[in-house]
Amino acid sequence: MLVLFLILLLGALTVAGYALVRFGVLPWPQRATTVHGEGGGRVAGTGAAEPEEYVESQFLMDTYVSIRAFGHGAKDAVSAAFNEMRRIESLTSRFVPTSDVSRVNQAAGLDPVQVSDETFMLLEKARECSDLSGGAFDVTIGPVIDAWGFGTENPHVPDPDVLAKAVALVNFRAVELDPAQKTVRLATPGMSIDLGGIAKGYAADRAAAVLREHGVKHALIDAGGNIVAVGSRPDGKPWHIGIRDPRGSSPTDTIGPVVEISDGAVVTSGDYERFFVEGERRYHHIFDPKTGRPADRAESVTIIAPNSVDADMLSTAVFVLGPLEGPKILEGLNGVSAMVVGADGRLVFSPGFPAH
Ligand code: ADP
Ligand code: MG
Repeated sequence: MLVLFLILLLGALTVAGYALVRFGVLPWPQRATTVHGEGGGRVAGTGAAEPEEYVESQFLMDTYVSIRAFGHGAKDAVSAAFNEMRRIESLTSRFVPTSDVSRVNQAAGLDPVQVSDETFMLLEKARECSDLSGGAFDVTIGPVIDAWGFGTENPHVPDPDVLAKAVALVNFRAVELDPAQKTVRLATPGMSIDLGGIAKGYAADRAAAVLREHGVKHALIDAGGNIVAVGSRPDGKPWHIGIRDPRGSSPTDTIGPVVEISDGAVVTSGDYERFFVEGERRYHHIFDPKTGRPADRAESVTIIAPNSVDADMLSTAVFVLGPLEGPKILEGLNGVSAMVVGADGRLVFSPGFPAH
């Protein structure tokens, strides 16, 4: 009996330890110096000369978000930043029945729906990215995600006819935006929008803005691979961001150069974030809107950009387009560059990607 109890205890400790490492850490090699858990943070005394540090992680927008901020009042600032991110989630989530997105989807083929200025702005941005990427980025991907059962307990490979019907509903041009009325209408019944490829990026930008409003000069936000830096590290040096190796055996295995940034975003879209396995094949959550199947030209795409809303959309778009076509869409975008890990594991950099 005692032996059984000890085995169980050991098991529980191992799982808890893994969870802390997997979900609690900040982007390697920038390790948090404090222990922190979901929903509660810690203030750390990091030595007499160094400013106060506060770290907190929360599960929101379907991912683990961690914020690390320095300076007096960091704790209150971080808490306000999380509240802001939850506010964005309540506007953009498909799983909140009262959100702008849910109301637009419920009215597909019917009347235009009035939405908040922010949701409208996100849909305008999404439209621009669809145009720029020739439809590789398309927020009307909703029916395809549903056909695969992503976001449910039971993801599965859909029947070909079910998938074909879903693909036929995907069409960013059928999103009718009225800038004067701030209304949105999906032209065809059965259409639905999903802001999973842009909302987290916007929320991370908003979190950075709230931290700044609270006087925070140095902080790092990691929203499930959407990293935003506020200022530099407290010692004046840039933040060092390690990019996760999509085929690494541990989430802390990195690939390519360590990226150095102060004030800016580093966003990675990878096929390892959300996937299921069926018949020994992996099926992940970034879809090619043309085929309705998981995009298979890349393993991951990292975009560096001044803000994370753009980086988020572009990482998804370049992921779908792959290492040959993807980086071309970035030409002419100021301060934006990419590193693509191709399906063969090879690295491709667009001009301007730092330190390689
Ligand atoms: P992650 O959510 O893992 O950070 P992404 O930023 O690439 O990864 O976003 C993937 C999400 O975007 C999917 O979960 C889905 O909600 C949505 N999505 C999937 N394929 C597309 C696409 N081709 N265009 C726009 N959004 C997409
Ligand atoms: Mg994205």
